[in-house]
Amino acid sequence: MHAGNSPHAEYDVIIVGAGPAGCSTALHLARLAPDIAARTLVLEKAHHPRHKLCAGGVIPDAERCLQRLGLDISEVPHVTASQAHFDFAGRGLRMRTRGNPYAFHVVRRDEFDAWLVRKVRERGIEVREGTRVKSIHVDDDIVRVETATGTLRARAVVGADGSNSVVRKAIAVEEQHTHVARALEIITPPRPETSSHVQTDSYFDFLCIPQGILGYVWDFPTQIKGEARRCWGVYDSNIAATEKEIPLRLALAEELRRHGFDLAEYELKGHPIRWFDSRNVFAAPRVVLVGDAAGADVLYGEGISPALGYGEIAAQAIRDAFARQDFSFQDYRQRVLDSPLGKSLRRRTFFARIFYRLRHPTVQAFIWRRLGWLVRIIVNTFLIDWTLWGRD
Ligand SMILES: Cc1cc2nc3c(=O)[nH]c(=O)nc-3n(C[C@H](O)[C@H](O)[C@H](O)COP(=O)(O)OP(=O)(O)OC[C@H]3O[C@@H](n4cnc5c(N)ncnc54)[C@H](O)[C@@H]3O)c2cc1C
Repeated sequence: MHAGNSPHAEYDVIIVGAGPAGCSTALHLARLAPDIAARTLVLEKAHHPRHKLCAGGVIPDAERCLQRLGLDISEVPHVTASQAHFDFAGRGLRMRTRGNPYAFHVVRRDEFDAWLVRKVRERGIEVREGTRVKSIHVDDDIVRVETATGTLRARAVVGADGSNSVVRKAIAVEEQHTHVARALEIITPPRPETSSHVQTDSYFDFLCIPQGILGYVWDFPTQIKGEARRCWGVYDSNIAATEKEIPLRLALAEELRRHGFDLAEYELKGHPIRWFDSRNVFAAPRVVLVGDAAGADVLYGEGISPALGYGEIAAQAIRDAFARQDFSFQDYRQRVLDSPLGKSLRRRTFFARIFYRLRHPTVQAFIWRRLGWLVRIIVNTFLIDWTLWGRD
């Protein structure tokens, strides 16, 4: 039973944002605390299927998060990246994910997120689209959620509203540091006749690091309405201040030129990615943050599996808050940090701080072309497969 459509209705939980983090929180609530889920409302400013700038790489951790919710990614249109190439200027190492005959799957986010929202509704949770949250105000016993169509009230609010989160802005007013990466993306047709890239593979090339862009240029296989496409982009973690010798778009343009494309012919779009730092604000009384609003991976800008993982931690924290009638969420930060997801994200921030400091081209070439064995050990042991840690 829902709390009703009256503008003054009161909910147990309002989740702001119906991306992977918001949907995962809702789906975990439905599993862990059906009573609370029945009095939960998800607010989404857009209408699904909505565009979300994202390369759509879904790694096995994300797949396992979905499986725990009884969801199967094969229901969503996707392509499979057979191998992931980690290169410096076109040469480096190739990886699959351990135990899999592929590296990862690639979805279009409009389709993937609309599918998740369908699953949320199928489990009886109300999702209200076309409702932008303007701000939230935390009182002693309630949170007021201001939307364009009126004020809603909830006993707890989940900020799942992405990297530009208004919920985060409301609770992290004193946060000093800004941890925001930037990514630019375009979609092209495949051009196997001019590109040296294997068309079933994905590529990460770190050639822009010496130029002060602390990230990589990527090329993934993808599809739009069943037609093969390539998704290209450039990621800059911004993890350290650098003199950027070239703008981001030029780094992408140069890589595209090497593969027979002219960037000027394509629509270039950019979006920030807020990344994880253990010093981030994760919660406040009656409010928890999930997904990009809390912080994604800084090393690669990988945020889908973290978004799905945060949802489980938030749902557990909400269930316990209602059981104890203690909505301080004082332990939420520790829950995040101690979780396998939190450990993986902490390590990724740690390695990113070291790795992106190594800006000399010879050093970068050496890492990817000669130290592949070490990279594989670090990635497989410390960074991915966190959904398997602590489980037999
Ligand atoms: C160019 C680019 C490429 C990327 N590629 C990958 C990749 O290949 N693999 C990967 O794992 N990650 C990738 N990421 C990161 C990934 O997209 C994010 O980490 C992920 O989308 C985070 O999910 P989320 O649910 O936290 O936020 P979002 O997906 O941003 O969802 C937030 C939702 O909240 C809604 N919303 C926002 N504000 C409000 C408001 N005020 N009121 C109501 N609703 C609101 C939005 O409409 C949206 O639906 C990429 C990011 C970028 C920018």
